[in-house]
Amino acid sequence: MSGESVELLHIALPLLAPFRTAAGTHHTVEKLLVRVVTATAEGWGECPVGLGPGSVDSVGEARDALRTGDATAPPPATGALETARLDAELRTAGTSLASRLGATKTAVDAGVAIGIAPSVPALLDEVERRLGEGYRRVKLKIGPGWDVEPVTAVRDRFGGEVALQVDANGAYTLDDAEHLANLDRFGLLMLEQPLPAEDLEGHAELARRVRTPVCLDESITSEAQLDRALTLGACSIVNVKPARLGGLLTAKRIHDRCVNAGVPVWCGGMLETGIGRSANLALAALPGFTLPADLSASNRYFERDLTPPFVLDDGQLAVPDGPGIGVDPLPDVLDAVTVSREDVT
Ligand code: MG
Repeated sequence: MSGESVELLHIALPLLAPFRTAAGTHHTVEKLLVRVVTATAEGWGECPVGLGPGSVDSVGEARDALRTGDATAPPPATGALETARLDAELRTAGTSLASRLGATKTAVDAGVAIGIAPSVPALLDEVERRLGEGYRRVKLKIGPGWDVEPVTAVRDRFGGEVALQVDANGAYTLDDAEHLANLDRFGLLMLEQPLPAEDLEGHAELARRVRTPVCLDESITSEAQLDRALTLGACSIVNVKPARLGGLLTAKRIHDRCVNAGVPVWCGGMLETGIGRSANLALAALPGFTLPADLSASNRYFERDLTPPFVLDDGQLAVPDGPGIGVDPLPDVLDAVTVSREDVT
């Protein structure tokens, strides 16, 4: 776009508590923020860093690609630039991102993702706390050695009414099919990404051998991969993450394809700050997002969020309705968390 300038900000926010998945433990959230300034507005996008598939490996990787206008830049980086440009354009037009995408909801059911805990009692304490905060769905991160036991404990303690699902982040193999079928008796909403991302055939076979609906996350990297997964019968639910797909507009097309195929979708998260959370909320307000999102209140992760905090209201988060993404970074927080900033135009 002519007349625009682009600034890249490397930020690092400490997490309130470490977050552990089958893929690793995180103490700090790193992002590359993209700030686009046009003659009439500024816009923001957020690129996740170091969170596995759907994020970039390092800030440098994303920054180098965006600095040089590399056509093969990783999808989370191009997605952040796309969102920042769209945000600036919509702010100028006075249109909210939610209405631009075709949102039909003004609030979204909030789910909470709970990492692999140090012990079962510690897990139960956290689930109790989150349910007390009003979250409408609980997702447990699982992995080999931490699956049937924690799910049993949560069901025993909180009953069968709690909307519960599990996410393996690709930590199992098809040899574990019989073991994973032990989860069938818990009435889980879904088993998310049990096998490695590239193994669509394995997921299709597993889906025939377990009754719990299989959801794909890391595997769905493009519209072509979605079509392949649906044709194979590799999943019956899809987790849509804009960063992994290279932006909101592709995410919307994935949503539309899933609606046409009768496949429910929900919006996943990548430890977003208020910038990314706001964009995800606009997406999650589309009609095909019929399952609770991994979109939590700001205080789930941060002492102070980058934006005015998102708070739960009866287990829901309001969809921002201001122009663009509807929120701005708080200058003092932004200053405090910025590691470096660079003008690339
Ligand atoms: Mg996942």
